[in-house]
Amino acid sequence: MTKPPLTLYLAAPRGFCAGVDRAIKIVEMAIDKWGAPVYVRHEIVHNKYVVDDLKAKGAVFVEELEDCPDDRPVIFSAHGVPRAVPAEAARREMIYVDATCPLVSKVHIEAQRHAENGLQMIMIGHEGHPETIGTMGQLPAGDVLLVETVDDVARVEVRDPEQIAYVTQTTLSIDDTAEIVAALKARFPSIVGPHKEDICYATTNRQEAVKAIAPRAEAMLVVGAPNSSNSKRLVEVAARNGCGYSQLVQRATDIDWRAIEGISTLGLTAGASAPETLVNEVIDALGTRFDVTVEMVETAIENVEFKVPRVLRVPA
Ligand code: SF4
Repeated sequence: MTKPPLTLYLAAPRGFCAGVDRAIKIVEMAIDKWGAPVYVRHEIVHNKYVVDDLKAKGAVFVEELEDCPDDRPVIFSAHGVPRAVPAEAARREMIYVDATCPLVSKVHIEAQRHAENGLQMIMIGHEGHPETIGTMGQLPAGDVLLVETVDDVARVEVRDPEQIAYVTQTTLSIDDTAEIVAALKARFPSIVGPHKEDICYATTNRQEAVKAIAPRAEAMLVVGAPNSSNSKRLVEVAARNGCGYSQLVQRATDIDWRAIEGISTLGLTAGASAPETLVNEVIDALGTRFDVTVEMVETAIENVEFKVPRVLRVPA
């Protein structure tokens, strides 16, 4: 039986970012250096495939520091942690390595600097996301106000409207965030923002590639995990930019074949924590049902790399 033709618009850039790559390498280095088990507080990056692979190598994933024994090393995930976490690890004289993405650390430093300058902090982010918890946790509890929507901006109560600053989560929707920032500036004209956008290069580039594909694709598949903020944003960006159907898939087995039956154009991308192996798996699965022609849609070239420490050191 002949297979129906399918033009597959493959987004570039897609998949792993420099922060994810660095965090995974840090866990692997820690296992090499100290042997198994090495504990990791929270999923090192939001991807089950990556986590399972590291588990097989000797990593043990826990949600809280209290679930780690004192005598085994612990790694903090790429999303960042509140200051209280490394402080507690130091108090317990644990070996710990912080795999927080340098672009998240940059936001932490911004928040601390603004607070030192006497400004009250507003964070634009998703409640409960580990990155939001980590960034808000750079300052004492209650000092950072969280806004998630334009409506929240109207409700937020600040100490002094002339003395406030904002930071954002790095993996938000560029367009939604621009609206929230505009609302903040309208309500608090002197609000201080980041020198350079907090939304990171990887989030920005992946959303731009999806925007370029969405108007010409009948459907879009985003390879990523349900708890991956940047992956979920890609699904939304596709829908908002003219793509009739967009679905988050962890891997090929998640594809809803009925939903994409009869289409002839499909977009494919992957969130910043999704490995290329899973993208290839999806392409192979599509090839079993369609006569696939891959067309790369490249909207940016990435050459960002974050240094991985050559030797993991025990904090002093
Ligand atoms: Fe860092 Fe951005 Fe990757 Fe998050 S998505 S780990 S902030 S580069």
